[in-house]
Amino acid sequence: MSDVGFVSLVGSGPGDPDLLTVKARRLLDEADVVLHDKLPGPEIISLVPDERREDVGKRAGGEWTPQEYTNKRLVELALEGKHVVRLKGGDPFVFGRGGEEMEHLAREGIPFEVVPGITSAIAGPAAAGIPVTHRDHASSVSFVTGHEDPTKEESAVDWDALAATGGTIVVLMGVGKLPAYTAELLGAGLAPDTPVALVERATWPDMRVATGTLETIVDVRDEAEIEPPAITVVGAVAATRDRVRSLLQGYEVPTGSVKNE
Ligand code: SAH
Repeated sequence: MSDVGFVSLVGSGPGDPDLLTVKARRLLDEADVVLHDKLPGPEIISLVPDERREDVGKRAGGEWTPQEYTNKRLVELALEGKHVVRLKGGDPFVFGRGGEEMEHLAREGIPFEVVPGITSAIAGPAAAGIPVTHRDHASSVSFVTGHEDPTKEESAVDWDALAATGGTIVVLMGVGKLPAYTAELLGAGLAPDTPVALVERATWPDMRVATGTLETIVDVRDEAEIEPPAITVVGAVAATRDRVRSLLQGYEVPTGSVKNE
């Protein structure tokens, strides 16, 4: 049996290859095999030749690959002596199950490293001209998952407490449940005209941004047909965008433009 290999848990950043860290870029070239899902985005994924990558995102038939399969595959490849890059969108430890993968590797005795990435939670808003903190508008920022059903009693996200911070709320995985948590935040006392922005496919070639308020954003989402992956930014900072937008150069295509499908 060959010597045990090595796993690099690597954050890809939000999707623009220029926002990969120098280390991530180097590891993509050096790895024997790169395990990835769709989140790093088409531009970054295509940097790795087909024969050196495995998609552990959607399987044929549209089902999600179970996390157990990914964990098992990481160990299997490492035990074959391979240098494996587990490429994860954004930062590997921000809502990416990177922590679980790391603990699995540790339990199985596989050596690993963690390579932080630029999280979409900060880069998404930034690319849209929205600073997540601002001396005049927000002195704290919370990163939360919108994926849970907030009406469930066991919800781990305390929307009342978040509303009470007065700071910026950045919601990941928050497209589908937008109606539920905007209602929670309104119920918790946030003003109906609180600015909200949706940043879809941030830093990808077809990034789009849609803005509204807590009261209007669900209609805005529906009209623009915003889909995952997207970041929701709730708070006064979301209005900053309108003040800088005319001079903001960079990524986005106009909202409502046809998607590249
Ligand atoms: N580890 C990732 C987050 C994984 S959870 C990170 O640090 O960015 C998946 C969620 O991330 C998506 O539902 C979406 O809310 C967000 N996301 C990731 N990449 C994104 C991108 N390029 N644009 C918008 N949202 C993104």
